[in-house]
Amino acid sequence: CTPKRRQNRLTEARDDFEETQKDSQGRWRFSHTADTDPSLPSNREWATTISENIVSSTAGEETVAAHRISSKEQVDLVLSKAQRASEEWRKKSAAERAELLHNVGFELARRRADLLEVAASEVGKTLDQSDPEVSEAIDFAHYYGECARELETIPGATFKPAEVTLVTPPWNFPLAIPMGGITAALAAGSTVVFKPASATQRCGAILAECLWAAGVDPDVMQLVVPDNSSLGKALVEDPRVGNIVLTGSSETAQKFLQWRPDVNLLAETSGKNAIIVTPSADLDLAVKDVVYSAFGHAGQKCSAASLVILVGSVGTSQRFYRQLIDATQSLTVDWPQNPMGEVGPLSVLPGDKLMRGLTTLEPGQRWALAPRRLDATNRLWSPGVRSGVVPGSEFHTVEYFGPLLGVMRADTLGEAIEIQNGTEFGLTAGLHSLDTEEIRLWLDHIHAGNVYVNRTITGAIVRRQPFGGWKLSAVGSGAKAGGPNYLLGFGDIEQRTQVT
Ligand code: GLU
Repeated sequence: CTPKRRQNRLTEARDDFEETQKDSQGRWRFSHTADTDPSLPSNREWATTISENIVSSTAGEETVAAHRISSKEQVDLVLSKAQRASEEWRKKSAAERAELLHNVGFELARRRADLLEVAASEVGKTLDQSDPEVSEAIDFAHYYGECARELETIPGATFKPAEVTLVTPPWNFPLAIPMGGITAALAAGSTVVFKPASATQRCGAILAECLWAAGVDPDVMQLVVPDNSSLGKALVEDPRVGNIVLTGSSETAQKFLQWRPDVNLLAETSGKNAIIVTPSADLDLAVKDVVYSAFGHAGQKCSAASLVILVGSVGTSQRFYRQLIDATQSLTVDWPQNPMGEVGPLSVLPGDKLMRGLTTLEPGQRWALAPRRLDATNRLWSPGVRSGVVPGSEFHTVEYFGPLLGVMRADTLGEAIEIQNGTEFGLTAGLHSLDTEEIRLWLDHIHAGNVYVNRTITGAIVRRQPFGGWKLSAVGSGAKAGGPNYLLGFGDIEQRTQVT
């Protein structure tokens, strides 16, 4: 698919959004439901379809996503269905799979307003975050659809996909990340068991509706919500699951590998990401990109910037620093009154680590802007900026996953790179510099999967910026998501025997 003109779409979506109303429970309703086709089943009917096709359900208005698995027998049933369905699914030509996936992309586009709404109501995504996320989900469907064809033309070899892929996405990108895993597995010829994050089951249900409405057989892509973690574990442990696509913490990835050392794990995990700003940089642009990378979706992205490293005079003069504080202070944080605000709520209640980051400074640090709790639920916080972060401190090395930015200083670019590389992770990294020598030096020495020069470090675009980590930010095998060869990670390549 061609790279999308996100800005235009965002503007259109904002226009639609401005016409929206709140419903009786104070939730925002999106007025824009493009091309609603009255011949298609309603959500309610889909909920029933879901429940018939999975194992049991309490489907009703409030529990639309509750397709529960409450026993080991039901795990077995789901996986037997997935395995049986894989026989037919694998036989489909790449062209047939591609056509289905393109239809999935069109269906997601048709449901854009519903997807924006559920991302807002379920995890508090502001529109500037959720609209590009829907676009990314659509891009994945079309892109992997196209990539399917490449698997049929490997010279002298045959690609054999694993029969069943388990897709276990996180709650922070509840639309794009699951769609990426699901559409890649389907494109590769594997059937899918999709377990949405427990905080984002309604997002998962709408995605499943889109897949089924586009023509994907409900046994080829099943949605499951295990009742408890032992049933989730049973899914991971079952040998019928050949691939697991995980985006989550490094600890979860390690746990999965302990449970199933033989599984093919495609995992993108945690990050601790920094942007370096050198004296040659366009400082206005750098401020804008640092602020967006740090505080978009309240910093709840593995890719988010949680450190900015100021080199030489950028650190000693006050200009950048003041602009950074001003720009951060000017962000609108008034969810849910303003879904177009720039910083939304924490999607889940903060754990101990994030609470410590929001409230406590290490020795030598000071708040340039102290985070403030803005509501009684403990979920809405104004962004915080701390200065005086030094190499080796907790804030330098630990991922907090919230609206927090630490300012560090370095005398030289070389020293800044050492600081940037000085964590266990290697997911995203940024440099703001207009000096080609500096850019070359940085590119030669930076250890991160996704490196960005003079732009934000979040928001990788499918096909243009394949996404994946180095070091502890990637566990398991496989090429980067949204890029060439990713689908090869979903199976084995067998050399064809020449018969003469
Ligand atoms: N792909 C997302 C980005 O480029 C990040 C995904 C994540 O946070 O896990 O911002």
